[in-house]
Amino acid sequence: MVDLKGQYDKIKQKIDSAIYNVINSAAFVKGPEVTKFQNELSEYLGIKHSIACGNGTDALQIALMALGLKPGDEVITSDFTFIATVEVVALLGLKPVLVDVCPSTFNIDVDKIRKAITPQTKAIIPVHLFGQCANMEEIMKIADEYNLFVVEDNAQAIGAKYTFSDGSVKKAGTIGHIGCTSFFPSKNLGCYGDGGALFTNNDDLAKIISSITNHGMEVRYHHDRIGVNSRLDSIQAAILRVKLPLLDEYCNARYNAAMYYNEQLSEIEELSVPIISDYSTHVFHQYTLRVKNGKRNNLKKHLDDSGIPCMVYYPIPLHKQKAFLQYKSVHECKVSVLLSNEVISLPMHTELSKEQQNTVIDAIRSFFNNM
Ligand SMILES: *Cc1c(COP(=O)(O)O)cnc(C)c1O
Repeated sequence: MVDLKGQYDKIKQKIDSAIYNVINSAAFVKGPEVTKFQNELSEYLGIKHSIACGNGTDALQIALMALGLKPGDEVITSDFTFIATVEVVALLGLKPVLVDVCPSTFNIDVDKIRKAITPQTKAIIPVHLFGQCANMEEIMKIADEYNLFVVEDNAQAIGAKYTFSDGSVKKAGTIGHIGCTSFFPSKNLGCYGDGGALFTNNDDLAKIISSITNHGMEVRYHHDRIGVNSRLDSIQAAILRVKLPLLDEYCNARYNAAMYYNEQLSEIEELSVPIISDYSTHVFHQYTLRVKNGKRNNLKKHLDDSGIPCMVYYPIPLHKQKAFLQYKSVHECKVSVLLSNEVISLPMHTELSKEQQNTVIDAIRSFFNNM
């Protein structure tokens, strides 16, 4: 599915010396590499503040803590996403309200958000799934109208761009009140362990966020609020500083690979290739097909048997997950149920060759030709 070794080999010298320099400096935690990385990330994203933390799940949790939400407050998010998005909501004693997604983009359906709003609703967490932005202009309109916070889960779409109807462009993760991302190794900007970050243009929120990541303190041993211990270590920051300047190139490589899959696979009637909305670019964290006529599981088995890597993201909608049955959505999530039965993701990474893609494509063709 990914080729992290192939990617490393091309930047080995720079990475190795960056790691060596950190070890040699012995500034392992909260060193200058972390500060420099935060500044460079802010510049790349066009945002005032980037605050690094331990991982993407922590980033989401810290964002909700920083907003001062109270137990019982409702947080609207997508029924079709990775569990982390909704896990942190439940962990903080907030109530996850799961709403359905759009069949074309797999992202949260804004009409369903409106229907799910109650007097207890305090925040919306749009997830930019698989690499393209949710409909942020509409989401920000709803948030303005109902006085809600917006926390973007940008773990899968760092580098994507959103275009507003007035023509202005913003990077994914910089549109809501707080943006969150993950530097898990397989993400589009991945480090060599765990890492994450939060983004905001709000000076007060930035202060609160950075204090929460560090045991709720701004002045040493003065704990003004309840915090956590969530840090990006300096070695990971040094690695990310080597990789950040390559992010756009990496996103292009993924995009080009996706266009080649599209070109080769769109002729197969029983497949739907990914659809790119007109308001967002797509950085293809995943290349995800829909398989019609109940044939997804058979195609998956055929690819497994042929030694072709493939994955189902995600096989069970959140409202059907055992741990989340108590939050059963009062609103129907027909599309996310449908998608969980239809989606399949193909190998997608920066090192994918045409030859490798042809092997995948041929295996898919042979499945449909023999049906
Ligand atoms: C990966 C991911 C996360 C969590 O990131 P970690 O760094 O693994 O904690 C959260 N949300 C989404 C959508 C993700 O894909």
